[in-house]
Amino acid sequence: MTERLDCAVIGGGVVGLAIAHRLAQLGRQVVLFEAEKATGQHTSSRNSEVMHAGIYYPTGSLKAQMCVQGRRMLESYCTERGIAWRRIGKLVVAIRDEEIPQLEHHRAQAEANGVDDLTWLEPEEVRKIEPAVICARALASPSTGLVDSHGLMRALAAEAQRAGADIVLASPVVGGELADGGIDLDIGGREPGRFRFATVVNAAGFSAPAVARSLCGLDDKTIPTPYFARGHYFIVAGPSPFRRLIYPLPGKDGLGIHVALDLGGNLRFGPDVSFSPSASYAFDESRADTFYRAVRSYYPGLADGALQPGFVGVRPKLAPEGTGFVDFVLQGPDVHRVPGLLNLYGIDSPGLTSCMAIAEEVATRLAR
Ligand SMILES: Cc1cc2nc3c(=O)[nH]c(=O)nc-3n(C[C@H](O)[C@H](O)[C@H](O)COP(=O)(O)OP(=O)(O)OC[C@H]3O[C@@H](n4cnc5c(N)ncnc54)[C@H](O)[C@@H]3O)c2cc1C
Repeated sequence: MTERLDCAVIGGGVVGLAIAHRLAQLGRQVVLFEAEKATGQHTSSRNSEVMHAGIYYPTGSLKAQMCVQGRRMLESYCTERGIAWRRIGKLVVAIRDEEIPQLEHHRAQAEANGVDDLTWLEPEEVRKIEPAVICARALASPSTGLVDSHGLMRALAAEAQRAGADIVLASPVVGGELADGGIDLDIGGREPGRFRFATVVNAAGFSAPAVARSLCGLDDKTIPTPYFARGHYFIVAGPSPFRRLIYPLPGKDGLGIHVALDLGGNLRFGPDVSFSPSASYAFDESRADTFYRAVRSYYPGLADGALQPGFVGVRPKLAPEGTGFVDFVLQGPDVHRVPGLLNLYGIDSPGLTSCMAIAEEVATRLAR
């Protein structure tokens, strides 16, 4: 009889690491399989590193709950471990008067989500704190922050390992099979093999649907079609004219091309949204024209030639372009009828902010 291990986590991004960390702390025997030679090489290291306050998401959605709860958890975790983070604050700006009702809607949405610290700023008040920005009105979110996502992932991995988890790198899950009394996973890489687990958490980011499809016996109809929404960042050399994050109103598929600072104060703008048939990181420099137009609508001082190609991140989407809000999906046996299997689909923004809340929810569901 095949020996049955306790728990596999597929994917060593921030979400898989947070899950492995939580399960190991709870005394579960965990093996995390990561396809790459290092953890955090995909979406978790190609984003804005913003700890979102939870303003935009429909009340009661997983995104709303987990963003608000996750930010608090992340702040405490990072403070206790000395991981860099800061409440840098953010302004959401209405560029024209016609956009103000939308901003009012976001404020009401935020309050319904328990985010009650937003304040209105008139254009002259904005000019005092952010002289480079023009707008018709703004909402200030003082609790929006930044986190050192690499420091966070290092800490989660090290603590998970200290609690007994195995993190196995360069070991992609290449297939598997639903078996009696467990789930068999086929592992590729240097030391290929088949292992049986009582519990499998599929946290493979934008590859999660492909991983699910590779599990023989899992009903295809329960697996969503993946969509890949690429987001470019352009960087700007030199000192930043901004002290906080500046966001335009969000679009249907993203939060808008915004001022994205890192904890060192380096300035970049992004991300845009371009749906693509695959998860490519190729940088499309022709996007610069769109960026100049979008950024100059709230920062007219952006000089010609200032934008330099940065990097691309890929949002794992579950619906085609223009669909609008789609929630995180934590899919368990109530949907796919496979005991012990949990598939995480569509963990796009605010997945970084929510990672520890997602991990808590996964642990709760697995304990049931
Ligand atoms: C442009 C952009 C900006 C964003 N900005 C923010 C932000 O400011 N704040 C925020 O909260 N969120 C943000 N997000 C969302 C956030 O980055 C993601 O929700 C989060 O990083 C998802 O983490 P993950 O672990 O699910 O996925 P990933 O980081 O993609 O990790 C998945 C892992 O699975 C591994 N894997 C894949 N297939 C296999 C396999 N077969 N076997 C083993 N391993 C496998 C991959 O190698 C990878 O390491 C942004 C996302 C994007 C794209």
